Amino acid sequence: MIALAFAAPALSDLRAALDDATLESAAILLCEPVLEGAQARILVKKAFVASDQDYLERSAVRVSLDPKFCLPIEKAAKQSGLSLVYVHTHPTVGHPDFSFEDDATEAKLAEYLSWRCPGVPHMALLFPKDAPARCRVLGSAQPVRVLEIGANLVAATEDSQQPDTDRFDRQIRAFGKDGQQRIAALQVGIVGLGGTGSIVAQQLAHLGIQRFLLIDPDEIEISNLNRVVGATPADVGQAKVAIAECMIRHIRSDADVVAIAGDITTRSVARRLSRTDFIFCCTDTHASRHTINQLAYQYLIPAIDLGVAIGASGDQTTIGSHVQMLAPNLPCLWCSNHLNAHRIREELMTEEQRTSDPYFENGAGVEQPAVISLNGTTASLAITMFLSAVAGIPSRPRYLAYDAVRGRMNALAVTANPDCPFCGPDSTLGVGDRAPLPGRPE
Ligand SMILES: [Zn+2]
Ligand SMILES: [Zn+2]
Repeated sequence: MIALAFAAPALSDLRAALDDATLESAAILLCEPVLEGAQARILVKKAFVASDQDYLERSAVRVSLDPKFCLPIEKAAKQSGLSLVYVHTHPTVGHPDFSFEDDATEAKLAEYLSWRCPGVPHMALLFPKDAPARCRVLGSAQPVRVLEIGANLVAATEDSQQPDTDRFDRQIRAFGKDGQQRIAALQVGIVGLGGTGSIVAQQLAHLGIQRFLLIDPDEIEISNLNRVVGATPADVGQAKVAIAECMIRHIRSDADVVAIAGDITTRSVARRLSRTDFIFCCTDTHASRHTINQLAYQYLIPAIDLGVAIGASGDQTTIGSHVQMLAPNLPCLWCSNHLNAHRIREELMTEEQRTSDPYFENGAGVEQPAVISLNGTTASLAITMFLSAVAGIPSRPRYLAYDAVRGRMNALAVTANPDCPFCGPDSTLGVGDRAPLPGRPE
């Protein structure tokens, strides 16, 4: 499946700019293509909305753009290997789909682009009056999902798969058939299938997620059995992703699970997440969380980071956790002060580098306390935040801190650093494969 992703509020801005009560309007989008096998994620980079003088013809039923408007944009696409999206509106009710005339125009355009801007997919996007957006690969019937990513993940196109209304009856009563449909359409990535990740996987499978991508390099150890949901003594020595896959299949026999027993700080492994629609970061190292943080903004894939802490310093005891969503317009983990550059450097060192580095402190090597009840609370907070972002349940916070000692839950507000290289306006936000991911190359 191909997804066309806008960083919020670019999609709403585009719709507003094209709004005209009587005449068709048009625009062309320049996009960064991220190709991953048969799947692709097309990241909208810039929108060019036609002004009055850019139309050769414009009426209630037809629109045609002046080549003087199109050619420079097509040239820019050719030079940088970018995808083009041709956008138009149907301003009157009752024309919810592409017309025969659209089919004919697109066929010619697709033929022209096959030699003018080859090697990347191009698309046609239609905004019909009072109906969901339609998008397809230019000159074909292949559908494209259109998403706007911000504090909410908004799908502008309709998801075709109908939910199982018997199985999900009680959920449909909570967030409607539309909400259930939106959940079911997503492929979710879970990084870390230990204490929190296994509970996240279990809840998502119950909720109706069918497609999963699981990443964890570790195997089940005897000391994990106190908290990894789905693991039994017989599983010691098995990959954590295999145990999670098995648990998901017990809940949903039709699940489509890709299990990768690899390390997210290896770039080729992290890049696999570019095919997902939503990521849960359930790891406990700074390097892995830094990777997911950057990836979420760079590939416009919303993520939720879960952090649990149990500790004591002097007579101060800490038992708590935080849950933070990462997406355009929300501050990243650097802006909320959750990452430490020194720790990232240490965690990415090879064994050889560690032994030869006089400053190596092995801060990451110490086993931390871990208790299932706190993991369960944290995973549940993250899943409720996910449901709010995806299915629209009215729960506003995108950054929560839970303090078990005082029995408090606080919605935190952090201001993003405008110069942040990961989430700021001049950052790697939305650049896709143009910037390298952190970590080791292979
Ligand atoms: Zn049309
Ligand atoms: Zn930031």
